[in-house]
Amino acid sequence: MYQRRLHEVLQRIDNAAGDAGRPAPRLLAVSKRHSATAVAELAGAWARMQPQAIVALGENYVQEAVAKQSELNRQPALPAIEWHLIGHLQSNKAREAATAFDWVQTVDRPRLVDALARHRPTDRPPLNVLLQVNIDDESSKHGCAPDAVADLAAAIAAHPSLRLRGLMAIPTPHDDVERRRPAFARMHALFSELQAAHPSVDTLSMGMSDDLEVAIAEGATMVRVGTALFGARD
Ligand SMILES: *Cc1c(COP(=O)(O)O)cnc(C)c1O
Repeated sequence: MYQRRLHEVLQRIDNAAGDAGRPAPRLLAVSKRHSATAVAELAGAWARMQPQAIVALGENYVQEAVAKQSELNRQPALPAIEWHLIGHLQSNKAREAATAFDWVQTVDRPRLVDALARHRPTDRPPLNVLLQVNIDDESSKHGCAPDAVADLAAAIAAHPSLRLRGLMAIPTPHDDVERRRPAFARMHALFSELQAAHPSVDTLSMGMSDDLEVAIAEGATMVRVGTALFGARD
């Protein structure tokens, strides 16, 4: 089952990238609310299908990720997994997040930058960081304002224990995915500006199961896919 779904998703990514004349973005498999068993099966299928690929998993909650990791550590012959935090991070969880993840995609305020930098274990490579941008300016959502990106990026770049990799966004869901296109395009413009200022920036994380084609057309370099790989969450 996972082999077929993976194949379909990778095909959608390749087709969208081909249509856009862009390199295929990386896939992040979003495993929130799916079991360690499901994750292990998907990771195994992915490593067999694309032996050179980085098997990357996205989780929304620190606790859920840590529990899953310890279950997976008991499974033999699992491919190496790169862990991404894609859910909102409270500052009091920064220590745990800085240890449990390879990437944090939801950095949106100076205090979190400092906490992650301070708590990243010194025997690990720098923590990869994306700034989450509130691109549709919804007061209820997380993410920094677009005009806060430059200062936050400079703060991240000043910490040797962090590596600034780029930007992430979750645009307002519209039933008509075309209505998300302007937000994706604004994100790409911000991303290009950031890249010009910071050579370490190479990642624009946007697009999910139902809108990855639009996101790729607008320049996503990483898409975060849950439902299309794991099925519906309950
Ligand atoms: C759940 C989630 C996804 C995956 O969404 P699907 O529609 O299931 O593909 C991607 N990004 C974030 C931040 C999420 O919380």
